[in-house]
Amino acid sequence: MSVRRTLGFVVASLILLVAGTFAAVKLTTDHLLYRQATSAAENWARYVADNVKDLEFIALGEQPSSASMEFFNWAQRVGLVYRYEIFNREGFSQLVSDRKQTALVGVSEFSPEAARSVERRTPVVAAQEGDGVERPAFFAEAYVPVLSGDRPIAVVAAFLDQTQEREAFFSTFLVAAIALCLLTALAFCLPAIAWYRRTKEKERADEQIRYLAHHDVMTGLDNRHRLSEKLQRALVSLPERGGKLALHYVDLDYFKNVNDTLGHDAGDALLQLAAERLRMAARKKDFVARIGGDEFTIVQVDASDKSEAEALAQRVITILREPFVVKGQAVSVGASVGIAMAPTDAIDIAQLMRCADLALYKAKADGRNCARFFSSQLDVDNQARLALEQALRSAVATDGFGLEFQPIYDSMNKTLVGYEALVRLPSFDDGTTSPSVFIPIAEDIGLIGYIGRWVLKKACHAAAAWPEHLSVSVNLSPAQFSTGDVCETVAEALRESGLDPRRLELEITEGLLLGDTEAVMEQLGGLKKLGVLIAMDDFGTGYSSLSYLWRFRFDKIKIDRSFMSAYDDANGNAGTVVKTIVALGRSLNMQVTVEGVETDGQATFVRNLDADQVQGFYYGRPMPEAALGASMLADLRSETAEPKDTSDKPATIRKAG
Ligand code: C2E
Ligand code: CA
Ligand code: CA
Repeated sequence: MSVRRTLGFVVASLILLVAGTFAAVKLTTDHLLYRQATSAAENWARYVADNVKDLEFIALGEQPSSASMEFFNWAQRVGLVYRYEIFNREGFSQLVSDRKQTALVGVSEFSPEAARSVERRTPVVAAQEGDGVERPAFFAEAYVPVLSGDRPIAVVAAFLDQTQEREAFFSTFLVAAIALCLLTALAFCLPAIAWYRRTKEKERADEQIRYLAHHDVMTGLDNRHRLSEKLQRALVSLPERGGKLALHYVDLDYFKNVNDTLGHDAGDALLQLAAERLRMAARKKDFVARIGGDEFTIVQVDASDKSEAEALAQRVITILREPFVVKGQAVSVGASVGIAMAPTDAIDIAQLMRCADLALYKAKADGRNCARFFSSQLDVDNQARLALEQALRSAVATDGFGLEFQPIYDSMNKTLVGYEALVRLPSFDDGTTSPSVFIPIAEDIGLIGYIGRWVLKKACHAAAAWPEHLSVSVNLSPAQFSTGDVCETVAEALRESGLDPRRLELEITEGLLLGDTEAVMEQLGGLKKLGVLIAMDDFGTGYSSLSYLWRFRFDKIKIDRSFMSAYDDANGNAGTVVKTIVALGRSLNMQVTVEGVETDGQATFVRNLDADQVQGFYYGRPMPEAALGASMLADLRSETAEPKDTSDKPATIRKAG
């Protein structure tokens, strides 16, 4: 029952209680008065009948004796009786005694009550309301038949004024009734108030629960559940409204960095500010929701076309690019936006959300800080990715990964110094899909730990069987450092294979040093203590911050292969940069490997560099473990031979003359 209805019920009950009490007081008062009045009037009538000796004669119309007159006058003064009447036995009045006089009546009047009392031989009594002028406001009259033996001789009527009694009675009862009412109301109200307060509290709690069920507490925006409800309604009414609807998925770029560097308080504050800006960017009729950590959505209802959706997305990107002031610091993030249109891309909610999600994924893949619309190609790409994920999972379950080894040569004397281990997924696309494609996916779906361990063990095991001067290089993904057990994994691989740690080289990329550097540095230090070598891979791409080079003493720098492919570009100065990096390595006392050497021209250029090692298709392609023996042998035999491109076969080893 609602509080409003209950309050109505309580008020009505109280009114009923007061009215009922009042009616009960009135009824009781009237009843008691009636009883009192009738008995008093009857007593007075009897008293008169007993004391007026010549009553029979008076009833016959004779003048009362002086004693009777005196009695009448006395009776008038002492009692409450304001009037007597004497009737003959037929019921006709003969004498009236009131406060003015006592006298025989001029014209005799018939009284049915008097006649009835004679007829029944019992008093007839009645209490009545008077007009307050001629008769008292409340009075009682008693007609008492006077009998001589069995014979009626007269009727005495006594009129008793009861007005004051009634008032006294009434006010006494009223006071009692009011007190009763108050007590009852109190007894009634205390639990009612308690109930009311409890109900109010419950209503407030319900309200809070409803709010929580529909809102994101931190930002006050709608939550995913509410978004679904509203979006569903908007989609249902779309055909009759006409036009289009745009669903924007907005994801803050690099938000995790804010949490990691400034703490979660700062992250929360930034999310609140971002939510505020999104609310401002959207129109009133659009709905803004937060559906995940740093993921928001805007439902742009009635978007006339794609350009209108694009305009909103650009507005969102622009306002979220503006720095936020958090904990007194200016913090910059950006935003990527994925857009799906209804009814063009989808008409049902799940499908539309999927499309927006794919578009967002695309925006992030395209370098973030941009907006992308859904297209059917994204769907195709997604299917391919799902298939790849499936292949990775099943390779984990069935030990289905493979390993190839690419030779690395000494740049000076052109001898083989070792191999880089490169993981393969033979079950997918005939094993042609590069790990640079499937490793990031394995990282995303949490399989990199397994793969990393597998490669390390397999590579160490293989290398342990090679001649002792050959080393093996293994690539480590940043994700392998986030679990904190990379040192144990490496130590275990070394222990199990019996490989000398100095023959194991671990390649990391600078992406690793972007995150939680302290923990990473500690783990790198731990690896160094194991005695393995650490190489900075793909140097020259990405940020290439030199700070990494002095903060950690790498054993080797591997110059990214993009410099070699750019070397042939006539206008480029990639060669100069490569020279500079080699010089940098020299001065830092780090070895330098030049990767990606494919052509004669590149090989000639590299030959004149002061680099330590070379690697590339020109010298040898990655090959399966089974082909290594023959390759090593060929390498020993052809010590003086000039290298040549071996792109059609996997494993011919050459060294420059
Ligand atoms: P990376 O570490 O730079 O490895 C060298 C990549 O360059 C290999 O590609 C290799 O086949 C290719 N390559 C070597 N010489 C040449 C050349 O002359 N020209 C061209 N165009 N390419 C050359 P792959 O095997 O596709 O591996 C790609 C990347 O995947 C690797 O780049 C590495 O970052 C990653 N990767 C490979 N294996 C693993 C692994 O076991 N674990 C981790 N975390 N990443 C791996
Ligand atoms: Ca590498
Ligand atoms: Ca590399």
